[in-house]
Amino acid sequence: MEGKLVIFSAPSGAGKTTIVHHLLKVFPDLEFSVSACSREMRKGEEYGKDYYFLSVDEFKEKIEKGEFVEWEEVYTNNFYGTLRAEIERIWKKGKHVIFDVDVIGGLNLKKQFGEKALAIFVMPPSIEHLEKRLRSRETENAESIARRIGKAEQELKTANQFDKIILNDKLENAFEEAEKTVEEFLK
Ligand code: ADP
Ligand code: 5GP
Repeated sequence: MEGKLVIFSAPSGAGKTTIVHHLLKVFPDLEFSVSACSREMRKGEEYGKDYYFLSVDEFKEKIEKGEFVEWEEVYTNNFYGTLRAEIERIWKKGKHVIFDVDVIGGLNLKKQFGEKALAIFVMPPSIEHLEKRLRSRETENAESIARRIGKAEQELKTANQFDKIILNDKLENAFEEAEKTVEEFLK
């Protein structure tokens, strides 16, 4: 069976990973699409759980073989992409796929899957909030934070191309709205 696709996109630090993890606990029919990427593994991350961590060369080989539904060089030498086999693996289990991808990846998936996909943009209250959240996450150095914030302004402009915008100011409210939206779509 072919299931549906629930896509969460936002600038880095907006809270999409937090919301997606919450939804995975609430909806047993959803399974997370593990992306491939070529960045360094962070403390606490696991191969096959957070990402399929590949070298830049391995990643490029898969691009050449056409194994990606979408891929992108999000930051220099940091490639990220969705493997076709990953979506099929989840659908085969009779589940729907949930994605945590950047805005270009999200819009790309939406374009390919149309009505089967719901593309949600997570809106931070402001760029200042984004920066504060990235700092508090303690996963990025100053340069990486600056790079991510530098991209955020452009990314915010894509919000109205999504099916739905969820404001992530108070986390509890964002959780509730995300739950309602996903429940309606999966019905
Ligand atoms: P993204 O996946 O979009 O990069 P994360 O989910 O990792 O964002 O969130 C970035 C940081 O902000 C994390 O430390 C997370 O705990 C925190 N955060 C998420 N949502 C909120 C919120 N509504 N208010 C305050 N902090 C938040
Ligand atoms: P991070 O390094 O913080 O895990 O992710 C950096 C950015 O890459 C985030 O915006 C994240 O959503 C995005 N990303 C993760 N996986 C994919 C993917 O498969 N495709 C695309 N296009 N972006 C991705």
